[in-house]
Amino acid sequence: MSVTPVVSEVDSPNQKITIPPLLGASVTELTAWVQQQGQPGYRGKQLHDWIYNKGVRSLADISVFPKQWRAEVAEIPIGRSTIHYRSVAPDGTVKYLLKLSDGFIIETVGIPTEKRLTVCISTQVGCPMACDFCATGKGGYKRNLAHHEIIDQVLTVQEDFQQRVSHIVFMGMGEPLLNTDNVLAAIKSLNQDVGIGQRNMTVSTVGIRDRIRQFAQNKLQVTLAVSLHASNQTLREKLIPSAHPYKIEDLLTECREYVEITGRRVSFEYILLAGVNNLPEHASELAKRLRGFQSHVNLIPYNPISEVDYKRPNRDQIQAFVKVLKQHHIAVSVRYSRGLEADAACGQLRADKQ
Ligand code: SAH
Repeated sequence: MSVTPVVSEVDSPNQKITIPPLLGASVTELTAWVQQQGQPGYRGKQLHDWIYNKGVRSLADISVFPKQWRAEVAEIPIGRSTIHYRSVAPDGTVKYLLKLSDGFIIETVGIPTEKRLTVCISTQVGCPMACDFCATGKGGYKRNLAHHEIIDQVLTVQEDFQQRVSHIVFMGMGEPLLNTDNVLAAIKSLNQDVGIGQRNMTVSTVGIRDRIRQFAQNKLQVTLAVSLHASNQTLREKLIPSAHPYKIEDLLTECREYVEITGRRVSFEYILLAGVNNLPEHASELAKRLRGFQSHVNLIPYNPISEVDYKRPNRDQIQAFVKVLKQHHIAVSVRYSRGLEADAACGQLRADKQ
């Protein structure tokens, strides 16, 4: 980003100045900004450290800055959200509802495991894709998140856990590839300013025509996860109405291009809905479709949401599906959602608590 976009205005003693939320700016950009404010350049590095490492929420709290200047810039937004609601599941997963500066609420999840702290982040307020099994989709779409609102989620979890975030999954509310520019800016800053490796980031998309191909041109090292969820077009359209004009073959062609362009494999997410898409014939159809593809299938047993009455398959049914894929030499794993005890499926928390 540049340091000069007009995002909001504050009154300074002398004149009206235009200012950005500072979160998302690089050390170079912050240095230019402090100089523009009449401060020595080294304060840019200090500001960078306070924003990204110390997680400061107000410029007034940066104790290494001169008192008078702190007072002058106290109202300039850094771009942090506030925690509106927080719930901890017995397995240690923490779900947050974060309040944005305009009052909208988004969901973020912190998922601790022995060696990792993963954050599941949102990219939009709501989602326009309206997938039939998804609580977020049922709530409609409000707006894209700005890049600082994406980065903020990671800093919030880091601060709350008092632990460095190691992994990021773009699997919260929203469709990342409908907000590509801000997602790209956030990835860049999370990588360079927050210090998280691109290989530890996964961007999940339901697939929007041409967007995977465009995304690939950035040659990032992030993992692309594609929400396939069905082994054929008819079934996919039933679950994902937005898939209607975008045939599964075209989606897979773009995924193959992604592998060619980036050299990274794609992972396919496949929600398991009992009696709908989890039968052995679906597994073999899926396997045939993915034959020879450098990919990995992530099976996600359905997390019940209140608006629809799909059922999660039992363990035997899940294992039967896994077995067929393995027989066809497809790399597969089952992803059981964490933190279900506290607040049901993703997206459900916001619906319940807002
Ligand atoms: N829009 C993006 C990212 C957000 S959803 C996408 O579609 O990939 C992240 C993942 O959670 C997707 O694979 C989505 O299909 C899945 N998901 C949504 N609702 C779910 C539910 N009730 N149970 C299990 N997985 C769900």
